[in-house]
Amino acid sequence: TASQTITLIGLGPMGQAMTSALLSDGRSVTVWNRTAARADQVVAAGATLADTPAEAVAAGDVIILSLTDYQAMYDILGDATAGLAGKTLVNLSSDSPERTREAARWATDHGANFVTGGVMVPAPMVGTDLAYIYFSGPGETFEAIRDVLEVLGRARYLGSDPGLAQLMYQAHLDIFLGTLSSLMHATALVGSAGISARDFLVDALPFVGAIPAMVGDGGPEEVGALIDADLHPGHLSTATMMGATADHIVQASEAAGIDTGYPAAVARHYARAIADGHGSANWTAIIEGIRDPQP
Ligand code: NDP
Repeated sequence: TASQTITLIGLGPMGQAMTSALLSDGRSVTVWNRTAARADQVVAAGATLADTPAEAVAAGDVIILSLTDYQAMYDILGDATAGLAGKTLVNLSSDSPERTREAARWATDHGANFVTGGVMVPAPMVGTDLAYIYFSGPGETFEAIRDVLEVLGRARYLGSDPGLAQLMYQAHLDIFLGTLSSLMHATALVGSAGISARDFLVDALPFVGAIPAMVGDGGPEEVGALIDADLHPGHLSTATMMGATADHIVQASEAAGIDTGYPAAVARHYARAIADGHGSANWTAIIEGIRDPQP
């Protein structure tokens, strides 16, 4: 509720953006950061700088953490655990789902409520209409602080398993980082024949945006429902056809003398689907081999 006091620990670009959004919403915010100078801007904007992590913990009903990883939370709060009972910790730092589950047990052992989240937009977009954040953890804890969290971005609650928010975050980053690597690989590929990155990206970046319409006629719901039912119908983009293309990309990369790790991984998905007898199925059949990898 609006009467809840807020502490924000971790003032990298993300933590600073969150503090600014909370201050703009009229909330009072206590902050702490290992490197105190990083608090200068938010203090000038009205935040209160705590001298120690223990003081920061004492000042907030809701303690939001925005750190490089979960180890940083233990480093910072390790000497302040006595003050955690009854507090609600919201850790928005990146880490593996298993680390976040372990942290939820740690927080519970110290009498704190624990919610974990994954911020899905870059720092400058925090607090705007475009911002959204996945959360997981106990539903009643989440609902009790929902209005605070909504200041940072639209809150999407996934369920009580604390690992879910980071799993969802990483699934999106899986797509993002894969796309970025394929963009640079493709740029290097055409670059080997003298096509500039500038000329290539003028065509290739809009192509990325056209991909959703190519994934399936019925949109994500229809494609997803078929995959959920283990059905891979379709004859326009079969695993055999896509696999041949994947092999051609590997061959072209070899000929160009550039790294083949990325296209080889892609080609492996299709080779496996074909070997398992899914060659005439839709390309989505590659998920079967991804789910059940061979050594
Ligand atoms: P930074 O790496 O810039 O900031 C990290 C913060 O963690 C700093 O406050 C740093 O303190 C602190 N920190 C790291 N290790 C320790 C430690 N051992 N002890 C004490 N403090 C520590 O990250 P961002 O602000 O960019 O991001 C924060 C989180 O948000 C990350 O998990 C990131 O994945 C996630 N995120 C970030 C996005 C972005 O656009 N930046 C987008 C989506 C998610 P100090 O200042 O003293 O170094």
